[in-house]
Amino acid sequence: MKTVRKTELPKCDFCPEKAEYDNPTVQGPWANMCPACYGKYGSGSIGFRFILGVAAPKKDKVRIAPRVDEDECVCPNCGESRTVEPDANYEFDCEGCGQRCKVRTCWRGSDDEDF
Ligand SMILES: [Zn+2]
Ligand SMILES: [Zn+2]
Repeated sequence: MKTVRKTELPKCDFCPEKAEYDNPTVQGPWANMCPACYGKYGSGSIGFRFILGVAAPKKDKVRIAPRVDEDECVCPNCGESRTVEPDANYEFDCEGCGQRCKVRTCWRGSDDEDF
């Protein structure tokens, strides 16, 4: 499940509690749900989990997202993977945590080539 940082938790769609999840319900539509309602109505792990906190300033600390494959890198902050071009060399905002990361060009023939 992906996590989303929020400065304030939204209200649960089913009760007055604070929601911690944004997930599909067993009925189909997505809803904000507190842990109790998520237990009752949540239908799986494909949604988002809210974390209370302030996002780190985006301009500082742009970290390199290491490549796990020629066309895939992972966020150094949350581990979210992202498809990138082999010659990608830019900064991007991670979809998982919203932090800015940097990906560098992947050169063919690097040391993990095994043929
Ligand atoms: Zn609730
Ligand atoms: Zn991330």
